[in-house]
Amino acid sequence: MLKPGDWIGILGGGQLARMMVLAAAPLGLKCHIYAPKGDNPAFDVAADFTEAAYDDEAALATFAASVSVVTYEFENIPARTAEILAARVPVFPAPEALQKTQDRWVEKSFIRDLGLSVPEFRAVSSLADLETAVDALGRPSVLKTRRFGYDGKGQAMIGPETDLAEAWARVGEAPSILEGFVPFEKEVSVVAARTATGAFVAYDVCENQHKHHILDKTLLPAQISAETAARAKEAARAIGDALSYIGVFAVEFFIVGAGSNERLLVNEIAPRVHNSGHWTLGGAETSQFEQHIRAVAGWPLGSVRRLGQIEMTNLIGDDVDHWRDLVATPGLYVSLYGKAEARPGRKMGHVTRVIRPDA
Ligand code: AMP
Repeated sequence: MLKPGDWIGILGGGQLARMMVLAAAPLGLKCHIYAPKGDNPAFDVAADFTEAAYDDEAALATFAASVSVVTYEFENIPARTAEILAARVPVFPAPEALQKTQDRWVEKSFIRDLGLSVPEFRAVSSLADLETAVDALGRPSVLKTRRFGYDGKGQAMIGPETDLAEAWARVGEAPSILEGFVPFEKEVSVVAARTATGAFVAYDVCENQHKHHILDKTLLPAQISAETAARAKEAARAIGDALSYIGVFAVEFFIVGAGSNERLLVNEIAPRVHNSGHWTLGGAETSQFEQHIRAVAGWPLGSVRRLGQIEMTNLIGDDVDHWRDLVATPGLYVSLYGKAEARPGRKMGHVTRVIRPDA
């Protein structure tokens, strides 16, 4: 168990790391960020940082020696980096959890083997495989690279007219999976936390709306039945237990059908704090960022009680230019990430409106 004054190492210097650092500070914990050269807004708030490549073994060793535990803000940490660190210092969540979630084929197989429903999928490693898989799953279907995909990157929709050679080229002919298209009613997620002793908490299920494949809004409560919500939380618990997970993670689901036919399909697991949990800053008794810090520090988890009806909106690209109006809006919880440049599609901040029951 870490003590106030101890150091937590965080791989990655983006907004998620920044919000973790800001959550660690009131608990008296210090953070050392490790990130390659680039725009690293977490450096601005951390007690220490190292700017070095993920394959710089000497820098990794020095970093490991300076902290009591290492965590990360994103799942595409090279396996070798995690290994070098794990040989020297506890790494939470463990590198095995990363292995299960870095590759969509491994991830979907793991989830299905837990008895949870996933969209139909086939491995694709050649154009011939793609043709066979499209014959089996039909059109529309979705081609996704096995690794390094996020926010719709590394994906190609296979429509009625799509030329398969073109789709294969669009994903860079990289090892992929083909997924059956899910005619979903809604996309929801569960943000949960688990500790080394198996303590588990899940925030209320949230509903996610995307624009151009990027999360636009998160709304709570999700408009789904209480039974479906309970099943989603149970699925998250089963996944967390199977991974012996330590920290915060998110499970994204598709909801298909409605009323008594409402069903859940797991889309993916994010082994980290997640954009659909940003509402917890200001909208819950403990933020997902504090919860993650508590879990990796070996501390008891905090309350996940939601404080009202929630609407979280991402500030993408030049949305952030409205910051003057946003900070002048009473009751709006504003987070700006301090990034240097508002490129289109870039997450620059988010705002959360909490409508309290007594308001
Ligand atoms: P992913 O990166 O797998 O989360 O996919 C990004 C987005 O693409 C999802 O949030 C969905 O809106 C859409 N999508 C992904 N897979 C499917 C699918 N099998 N059927 C329908 N829509 C999908």
